[in-house]
Amino acid sequence: MSDHTILNKVSGNDIQMVIGNMSTVKELTHTMMDVPCKCGGYAKHQIGDVEHVIGSKKIIIKNVPHYYCEFCGTASYGTDVNVSDLLKEAYSKNLNEISYQ
Ligand SMILES: [Zn+2]
Repeated sequence: MSDHTILNKVSGNDIQMVIGNMSTVKELTHTMMDVPCKCGGYAKHQIGDVEHVIGSKKIIIKNVPHYYCEFCGTASYGTDVNVSDLLKEAYSKNLNEISYQ
């Protein structure tokens, strides 16, 4: 009977450890500045200008936080950065560049 109680205690601690590890991983992902790129390299987080081509028109978004891969030159955005409204606004006003706020 007493052995059974000890076993239950151990498995309870294991679950606690797993939960602790999971939240640590989440924290690391959130603060990590480099993300894997589709080319196999790494994209660095930076704030700068990103050029978009919409149809025959070029629109530059200024001072936008984004990930830039030096290996293949690809820029991508985090899920918290939404540029589609800015692009629509720039396109409708016929602007060549627009600032991210
Ligand atoms: Zn790349």
